[in-house]
Amino acid sequence: MAASKNVSRYSFGVGAIDELAELVKSVARRASAIYLIDDFFKSKKLPLNLRSQDKLIYIDNTNEPSTEKIDSMMEDFRSQELSTPDIVIGIGGGSTLDTAKAVSNMFTNEGSAADYQGWDLVKRPGVFKVGIPTISGTGAEASRTCVLTNYTKNIKLGMNSNYSVFDYLILDPSLTKTVPREQYFYTGMDTYIHCIESLNGNLRHPVADAFSREALRLCEEVFLESDDMMSDDNRAKLMTASYLGGASIANTMVGLIHPFSAGLSIAKGTHHCEANCIAFNALGEFYPSESKKFQAMLKKQDIVLRSNIVSIDDTSFETLHTSTLVHEKPLLNALGDDYRKILNKNRTKELFLRM
Ligand code: NAD
Ligand code: ZN
Repeated sequence: MAASKNVSRYSFGVGAIDELAELVKSVARRASAIYLIDDFFKSKKLPLNLRSQDKLIYIDNTNEPSTEKIDSMMEDFRSQELSTPDIVIGIGGGSTLDTAKAVSNMFTNEGSAADYQGWDLVKRPGVFKVGIPTISGTGAEASRTCVLTNYTKNIKLGMNSNYSVFDYLILDPSLTKTVPREQYFYTGMDTYIHCIESLNGNLRHPVADAFSREALRLCEEVFLESDDMMSDDNRAKLMTASYLGGASIANTMVGLIHPFSAGLSIAKGTHHCEANCIAFNALGEFYPSESKKFQAMLKKQDIVLRSNIVSIDDTSFETLHTSTLVHEKPLLNALGDDYRKILNKNRTKELFLRM
């Protein structure tokens, strides 16, 4: 059995981001640092101490990261004759964190990002990577993958590898203050969904179970028991839950909701966390008690999900079906060896029509 890997160092607390300048100085004394920052922060003041050799790139996350986008960024670095940096820093939500992980890996592994989509394909450790989440929920800060859409193959799949784990995290809850309410809910629910999928799966792991249970407890405090899900206290709780959910999923596997969500992302361009909520809403029968709580959370936080994403005369059922069924491991985890029989084309169509 493969040994588990978690992030080795992290600091947590309001103001933790002030440590970044010192960290960069200590890891990359003379060599360069690359900062990849969500473009929401273009007009915001972050405590960066940019030196002449450093490079800062704002990331537009209108579309979630893709293998094509990573390849084009690497192409740009090469054309600018940028030498391999000593440190790559990602500041943003799951999209930016995954971009940073992929870029870090691609500086030391030749070819296309697409060559490393799958399990344990990355050959060499990437550049020292620092993750600074500005939205809580995806667990990308703690997981061993960076999820990339591959438009050529019509798949959404990560570089699942111990080399995709961040070396250092700065978890500063003050950074999530500005997240729009709905986005905060959708992304926060990602950790809830990771944890219920892993706890209901066939591939259990006692440490992951413990992480998941605590993450679920925190999510319920934030979304079910509180009238202000974005209070200072709740943002710190959700940041903790996200980290624990990511650490859990690093040791286990998602279940049924994520493959359907990936289908929606591929066929409809729906972003991961909103797609998860829409898929969960339609797949309640597979997770009955958790689904009841999810409905109560939606009501409590006054969130209305988009509906009629898929309609009967849709031409994309084939894409929806294949881009769901391609997620063999999560589906085996959720449904066992018979998953292809259970999820035949009629059944997936019927489930997608609920979305
Ligand atoms: P995101 O990074 O896609 O960002 C969503 C939006 O929020 C963007 O418009 C961004 O500009 C904005 N934003 C970010 N921080 C903000 C802030 N502090 N204030 C205001 N606006 C802010 O959002 P996400 O939901 O965190 O990430 C989704 C991505 O994470 C998907 O690509 C998904 O595939 C990936 N993911 C990765 C893992 C993993 O383990 N690697 C797990 C789950 C999901
Ligand atoms: Zn997810």
